[in-house]
Amino acid sequence: MIQLFLPLNFLGFVYREIRRALTDLENMLGLLSRKPAIADNPNATVLNVQQGTVQFHQVQFGYQPNRPILKGLSFEVPAGSKVAIVGASGAGKSTLARLLYRFYPLNNGRITVDGQDISNVTLDSLRQAIAIVPQDTVLFNSSIRDNIQYGNPDASATEVDQAIKLAHLRSFIDSLPQGDATLVGERGLKVSGGEKQRIAIARAILKKSPILVFDEATSALDSSSEQAILHAMREVARNHTSLVIAHRLSTITDADNIIVLKDGMLAEQGNHQQLIAREGEYARMWQLQQQQQT
Ligand code: ATP
Repeated sequence: MIQLFLPLNFLGFVYREIRRALTDLENMLGLLSRKPAIADNPNATVLNVQQGTVQFHQVQFGYQPNRPILKGLSFEVPAGSKVAIVGASGAGKSTLARLLYRFYPLNNGRITVDGQDISNVTLDSLRQAIAIVPQDTVLFNSSIRDNIQYGNPDASATEVDQAIKLAHLRSFIDSLPQGDATLVGERGLKVSGGEKQRIAIARAILKKSPILVFDEATSALDSSSEQAILHAMREVARNHTSLVIAHRLSTITDADNIIVLKDGMLAEQGNHQQLIAREGEYARMWQLQQQQQT
């Protein structure tokens, strides 16, 4: 019996190793395939960020030619402020982040950072200036510390520890069997959506970019996880220009300006109090979300 079992056991081991290798390859290809659809123009200059003001000027964009998503959208994220984008599912909120990171060329209009058209600067310099906290973070098959350090491979051990603290990850990491050496990703510990977002926040803290884009996870988080993320976000947003793509209005009531996106256009804007008083689209969405919570 054992003569039969050993080779089968070995075959099982080989099968599992091949599957793991394929998962790594898949992750890598996934990242490579996120290469931009546009390359640097030959005269591209290095983006020079002094203040960190972001402006969308009459931006028109669609993934397909006959299906416009943004139909001439203009707004400003003044340097150092927090601007939130809200709107129904599919309104084009995440698309704004992809356009700012230059994954796609615009059909019309301009996006500028401190007055420089992002299509005229090198992609490297643009992406160095912007840290994105995505909805769903990719974790590599490595330790949780390596996964955080990925935000800036040159960061010192003290800086990584500081980022862990600011991103409210310390107690989570301390509860793991091997602390920050614990393996995460496909081969290691599965990490919850909220913990993943905090890892992404720690990466963003290490990257030290002047502009921060936070794409809030769509899936509902339990309230303690949401609070931890909110606190972490406030730490990282300090002294940064931040654009928050929000799904839950309760997370952006402190924003300096809230942009309501509807039918590819700016429907209304203002701070939370102003938009509630306006009794328009935002007030309606707020009421709906309040009802859902009760
Ligand atoms: P949600 O709140 O659900 O995250 P959203 O407002 O962020 O939605 P986007 O993800 O920006 O919406 O998508 C806007 C529209 O563009 C949607 O109708 C979506 O189906 C479409 N879309 C998004 N990505 C692509 C793509 N790669 N190719 C084609 N269409 C896409």
